[in-house]
Amino acid sequence: MQISTGKVVSIDYTLKDDQENVIDSSIGGEPLTYLHGVGQLVPGLEKELEGKTGGASFKVTIAPAEGYGQRDDSRLATIPKDQIEGADALEVGAQLYASTEHGEQIVTVTRIEGDEVTIDGNHPLAGENLHFEVTVRDVREASEDEIAHGHVHGAGGHHH
Ligand code: ZN
Repeated sequence: MQISTGKVVSIDYTLKDDQENVIDSSIGGEPLTYLHGVGQLVPGLEKELEGKTGGASFKVTIAPAEGYGQRDDSRLATIPKDQIEGADALEVGAQLYASTEHGEQIVTVTRIEGDEVTIDGNHPLAGENLHFEVTVRDVREASEDEIAHGHVHGAGGHHH
């Protein structure tokens, strides 16, 4: 069965950056199972998977525009420590929820200096080339419920 919109797809994948560091991988764990064509993966990876069948293996490099987007310096903010709950225990690299002008989002602490904390609302992989190695494990039709909900049920998906 070929991958197209409305199929449930299981993949094994390894994601590396330009320095060949492994950023994320399903190897040694469960394959990633997702509903194709609804934006659950970055656009470049969905495009590459389109039309592939079970057993297919490929490598692809995805530029930021088709990945997690370009870095946007307007998403950096420096705020007083006393505006952050539990600030004394904060460390650089910590991720927290914050209300920003872009709405509720996860931000990363990038600097702590004196009474000020710098937070970065960019996705941690914004501006990065994404080097994927992918093997397609399984392709099946999504159920009507899965299409309606926009996500996968059962193994590797939602249980409800
Ligand atoms: Zn559901």
